[in-house]
Amino acid sequence: MSARVRGTVSDAALEESAAHDASGTRSPSTKAAAPVSPYKGKTGWTRIRNALFYSVDGFAAALRNEDAFRQEVLLALVLTPIALSASVSSAGKAMMVASVLLVLVVELLNSGIEAVTDRVSLEDHVLAKQAKDMGSAAVLLSLINVPVVWLIVFFG
Ligand SMILES: [Zn+2]
Repeated sequence: MSARVRGTVSDAALEESAAHDASGTRSPSTKAAAPVSPYKGKTGWTRIRNALFYSVDGFAAALRNEDAFRQEVLLALVLTPIALSASVSSAGKAMMVASVLLVLVVELLNSGIEAVTDRVSLEDHVLAKQAKDMGSAAVLLSLINVPVVWLIVFFG
C-alpha cells in the first residue's frame, strides 16, 4: 500500500473524528455502517465479570512483556506508601498518589498502542513510528508530571 493511499485513509478518519466531535453524537449513517464486534453485546454482571478478567489479562501481559511497566510498578510500590505517610493534606496525598497511578495508566495505553501497531505490521512505516513515538511522549509527560506534582505539594 502506498503512503498516499494510507494518507487518504488517515485524512478520512480525521474528518470523521472531527465531525463526531462537533456534533457530540455519531451520525445515524456511521452507526449503521459500523461493523459489530463479536466481543460486544454482553451486558450487566456478565460484562463486568468479563471486563475484570480482560483487565487482569492486560496487567499480566504488561508485566510479562513491558520492562518499563515493571519498573513503573516498582516505582509505584515505593512512592505510594511515601505519599500516604507524608505530612501533607489529604488532597496533597491524593494528588501524589494519582500522579504515580497516572504513569501506570499511560504506560498500559502506550503498550496497547505498541501491540496494535505491531499487529498491523512489523514493517517500518512513518505512521507506525508516529503512533509509537506519540505513546512514548505521553509516558514521558506522565513521568515529568510526578516530580512536578510532588514538588508543588511539598513546597507550594
Ligand atoms: Zn513498550
